[in-house]
Amino acid sequence: MAGGFTKDGAVQDQIDATIEDAVNRARDQLPRGESLEDCEECGTAIPVARREAVPGVRLCVSCQAERDKKTVIHSGYNRRGSKDSQLR
Ligand SMILES: [Zn+2]
Repeated sequence: MAGGFTKDGAVQDQIDATIEDAVNRARDQLPRGESLEDCEECGTAIPVARREAVPGVRLCVSCQAERDKKTVIHSGYNRRGSKDSQLR
């Protein structure tokens, strides 16, 4: 059963490397710094799991979703606004 043990170890190494890669990539896209215990927008406690998964998290899940929506809308307005100013 020694061969089977070695195979399991190799698979585990591969899984570890994949997770590490994904975590490193995710961290590059997130603000760094201290995670807040409570949402800075509504004051709701941010679950420990979310704080550990998202280093530097400042918003609860629902406020983050709202902010993401607003960011998309704002970038749309900005694009339209710059087109208008080019025409004038
Ligand atoms: Zn919130």
